[in-house]
Amino acid sequence: MMFSDGLTPRPARILVVDDQPINIQVLYQVFHHDHQVLMATNGQQALKIARTQHPDLVLLDVEMPGMDGHEVCRRLKADRDTAQIPIIFVTAHREEAEETLGLELGAVDFIGKPINPAIVRARARTHLTLKAQADQLRRWVFIDGLTAIGNRRHLDTQLSTEWRRAKRNGSDLSLLMIDVDHFKRFNDRYGHQAGDECLRRLAGTLRETLRRPADLVARYGGEEFACLLPETPFAGARQIAETLRRKVESLAIPHADSDTAACVTISLGFCTHEPLGPTDEEQFMRAVDEQLYAAKHAGRNCVCGRIADAQTAPATTD
Ligand SMILES: [Mg+2]
Repeated sequence: MMFSDGLTPRPARILVVDDQPINIQVLYQVFHHDHQVLMATNGQQALKIARTQHPDLVLLDVEMPGMDGHEVCRRLKADRDTAQIPIIFVTAHREEAEETLGLELGAVDFIGKPINPAIVRARARTHLTLKAQADQLRRWVFIDGLTAIGNRRHLDTQLSTEWRRAKRNGSDLSLLMIDVDHFKRFNDRYGHQAGDECLRRLAGTLRETLRRPADLVARYGGEEFACLLPETPFAGARQIAETLRRKVESLAIPHADSDTAACVTISLGFCTHEPLGPTDEEQFMRAVDEQLYAAKHAGRNCVCGRIADAQTAPATTD
């Protein structure tokens, strides 16, 4: 079974947690031919591996000295980054009360000790299949159907994540909003199919230009795109915006009804949030919007940007 973190498929990862190395070894023998097996001999180690290695399934011993399996499960489920990982308890005590507690904590299944390899394999396969399907759905939820880049929901989610990260690390965060110039006229003249094709080409160009893994390109709506650029200072963001503008212009997609140029062009507005900037994410979005508006008024096919400092917080214009 193959899983993918973003674009690269990889074999499913199973994390085996047990304080007895011999038990880990038994499970390793069951799974290592088809899966990548990660191992932990205590709760702390298990949490750390789960957060950094993103296993697709956890086989969790209940009785361990120090942090027991129930507590490990509780913490994995409480953390947004690990809450999706299915957990199967491996236990010698299959009493009703214990199973009830395990299920209430969010476990998906139980396996009795001593383990039966065929049963363990079958149960693991079931939960890995469900996990793979859920991962696929989660990805689809964040993808724009027309252009295959991120959608607005993806941008909003990532913006919140990166916003918190920038605050925490005191790093710069830049956001670009992009609007296709005179796109309605393009659709009116060339038809909606040509319009869709145009948006697909623009999306492809934006995505190819932003090559850093943390950069996000999203279709924000209609003919509006956004680029989220973590750890990007003002000068860097301006350079990227200018590159995007030039690349779109050099696609030379004919646009006979544009007042701006003979081809399709874009207007770009951006803001860079510096560590001492405004604390409000929505104000930041509004400030970016205002820059896009300014670019439109400056004649289109151009870039307007500013640093979102404490004084920026623009009044809403609508
Ligand atoms: Mg144990």
